[in-house]
Amino acid sequence: MARLEILEHPDPRLREKAQPVTVFDEELSRFIDDLFDTLYATGGMAFSAPQVGDGRRVLVMDLTKDRTDPQVYVNPEESLRSAWGLVEESCLSLPGVVGNVMRATKLRVKAQDRDGTVFERDLTDMAAVCLQHEMDHLDGTLFIDRLSFLGKLYLRLFSREYRKGNAA
Ligand code: ZN
Repeated sequence: MARLEILEHPDPRLREKAQPVTVFDEELSRFIDDLFDTLYATGGMAFSAPQVGDGRRVLVMDLTKDRTDPQVYVNPEESLRSAWGLVEESCLSLPGVVGNVMRATKLRVKAQDRDGTVFERDLTDMAAVCLQHEMDHLDGTLFIDRLSFLGKLYLRLFSREYRKGNAA
């Protein structure tokens, strides 16, 4: 059990592109457990390796209230996005900031589990949205990058947390 330190915007490590996982060993498995410990400690729904300064393409998710559905996606690739809608998002790396982002609410993801076994899964609604949000982290993208012009303007004018991050 280990709770990892969560990086916050504008930490430059959040902007780095994560690299594919090639080694599926004990260390990776322990790291994934630590990601879940950290996610559960925060009460969040999903979380990615770059948010703790690790440059591997790994994300974890659990959308259940009682934390009974831990999902691991290593080297995820998504396809068949559809059913777009405006979704309110927040992020453990941007505390206090919320904004509306256009996301697909249906998609297919192909990924590997912690042992390297490839699987495919169709995701809808919040699971699809969380996956896109976390996959953005793997490419160094934050949800604030995807806000509309007005959404960005609103944050700039009214969000103390956002300004704090951007002033650095
Ligand atoms: Zn995030």
